[in-house]
Amino acid sequence: MLIVFRKLPLTYKLILIGIIPIIFLTYFSVVIYREQSQRVALISDHIERVQQSEDLGELVIELARERKFSFQYAIKRADLEEIAEQREKTDSVTAILSASDDVYLKDFEKYTSLDQLPAMRMNIDTGKNFVPRKILQFYTDVILRLTTINSSTPSSHTFLQPVYQDLITQRTLSEMIAYLGIIRINIFEALYTGQDMQESLEATLGDYKTFISYEKEFLAKASPQSISTYNNRKKLSDYKPTRDYIDRLFSKMEFDNTYDADAWWKVSTEGLKTVRQQQRNLWSSVDKRMKVLYEKENNYKISTFVFLIVSMIFVVIFVAYSINDISKLLRELKLAARKISKGETGIELNNMPTGVIGNLAKSIAQIDKNNVQLARAADEIGKGNFSVLIKPRSDNDLLSHSIKQMKKNLREFTAQKDKLQQETLELVNKRDEFFSVASHELKTPVTSLKAYTQLLLMDQLELNGNSNHEVMLKKMDLQINKLTCLINDLLDTSRLQNGKLVYTKSSFRFDEFVSEIVSEIQLTSDSTHIIIKKNDPVEVNADRDRIGQVLTNLLTNAIRFGRRSEEIIVESTVEGDHVICSVRDFGEGIDADQQDKIFDRFYRVSGNNLHTFPGLGLGLYIAREIINRHGGSIRVESTKGCGSTFYFLLPIHEDDTIIHELSS
Ligand code: ADP
Repeated sequence: MLIVFRKLPLTYKLILIGIIPIIFLTYFSVVIYREQSQRVALISDHIERVQQSEDLGELVIELARERKFSFQYAIKRADLEEIAEQREKTDSVTAILSASDDVYLKDFEKYTSLDQLPAMRMNIDTGKNFVPRKILQFYTDVILRLTTINSSTPSSHTFLQPVYQDLITQRTLSEMIAYLGIIRINIFEALYTGQDMQESLEATLGDYKTFISYEKEFLAKASPQSISTYNNRKKLSDYKPTRDYIDRLFSKMEFDNTYDADAWWKVSTEGLKTVRQQQRNLWSSVDKRMKVLYEKENNYKISTFVFLIVSMIFVVIFVAYSINDISKLLRELKLAARKISKGETGIELNNMPTGVIGNLAKSIAQIDKNNVQLARAADEIGKGNFSVLIKPRSDNDLLSHSIKQMKKNLREFTAQKDKLQQETLELVNKRDEFFSVASHELKTPVTSLKAYTQLLLMDQLELNGNSNHEVMLKKMDLQINKLTCLINDLLDTSRLQNGKLVYTKSSFRFDEFVSEIVSEIQLTSDSTHIIIKKNDPVEVNADRDRIGQVLTNLLTNAIRFGRRSEEIIVESTVEGDHVICSVRDFGEGIDADQQDKIFDRFYRVSGNNLHTFPGLGLGLYIAREIINRHGGSIRVESTKGCGSTFYFLLPIHEDDTIIHELSS
């Protein structure tokens, strides 16, 4: 289970974390709401109960009246109108109660024997089975039974506290009134008939004791206000004569002459009315306060409901927002980590919270910072700055240790390389010096050799001597010329290296110059025909001999390497403030990867009939240097097997300073 939870994606975990409190909140919300609804229902039930008590009280009163009239009617067989009127009142209150569908009142007519009332009335009216006491007893039983229906004793919920005392004592008061009514009618009956008075008093003693017991209960349980009202009524109101008479009667256990039946009925009617008034006041006060309670609890229920809904919405929004925010933060961290894994730097993690995520963000930022520092250090080391300090963060900091080691190795390597470079430079210098000296030293004997060969050749021609000697002398002269060319190339290269090649600038017609050089070179080859295809007239300012050296080299190369072709095409075109001169042959051409290299010093294309075409690989190097130092450029276009075209570009009005500067 723990492993399953551990492997769960973080978003699901967060959703779970969010859902659990929502479930609890929903559960408690429902419980609280239900409890609140129950309270409201309970109060509403009590309100109904109080209403019923009032209605039952009314029925008891009406039945008590009917009992008196029935009794009088039964004895005297008079007051028919009064009894008919009373029966109507009783029936109308009964009808109200019968119409209720409350379970408390279900079939109450049956178990209270109220359903036998019509039969009893019939007996009274017809005089059949007529026993006055039986009539009285019937009504008394019904009244007592009706009083017990009103027995809804509320449980002592704290929210009912304000009305609790009045709620329970209103029932006691009902019992008191019921017994007071019975006592009253019994006394009336004894006074009215004047028969078995003592017997009747004794029979009523039990009811009197029950009444006193209920009164004690009332005084014990009722609210202080109800008690004081009751006591006041007992002492001062119309209730006093009734109570005094009853108390006197049952303490002495004999009738006196204070009242006759009618007077007693009148006095006790007033007395009972006063107590009933108190009951009514109690009911209406309970009813009012219950309604206030109902309002309060109902409002509380609604506000609880609204509060729960609002808090649930708030929790859902808060949880959703939190999940989204955490996911966003983690996404940012993931992106930052991914960037680092790809080797990127400059990670920015702003507005990060404190705690775990904040620490993670700080660690990522620290990694980034270290990477940048190490990269900069590596860069500096790469540039040869070995003074940068690399401080490994721990013994296990592989990267820092490696860079530190790399710095050490590189420093050693650089030192070795510098040493080698120095040695190489010295060697190159020595070589250049050797070239310079050797070519210089070679030049002098070769020049004199040339002179002597020329003299010998002239003598041979004049003397018209041995023709073999002449041929041999001509070959010697040719070889000396070649040797001279090689020595000149070496000398020029040496001068170029030392910056000692001197340029002498002059203005000349470039088109004439081209024709001249072409004619000269044409003389050296019978097999190749050099064609000047285009020759724009233009005057340039340059070192004529050196430019001539360039064009000669290109033409000689074209003859040498374009051997199989029969012609070479020369073009000289003016474009803007430049003149572009090209030499095209149809020889073997040059590989693309060699085309740049042929302008390097001592570079010759390998496998290019090196022995057939002797040379040192210096001609194009010297040509490029000369052209460059005139502020121009030289390049080649060639296709292997199809020939090559060499172009050189010269500014027409060349800036004097360039040559001067470079030659100095
Ligand atoms: P070299 O004295 O060897 O001719 P260059 O510098 O004049 O020296 O030429 C360098 C190399 O360039 C030559 O050895 C040759 O291989 C190549 N090369 C020069 N001109 C041509 C050309 N017109 N056709 C083919 N290859 C050429």
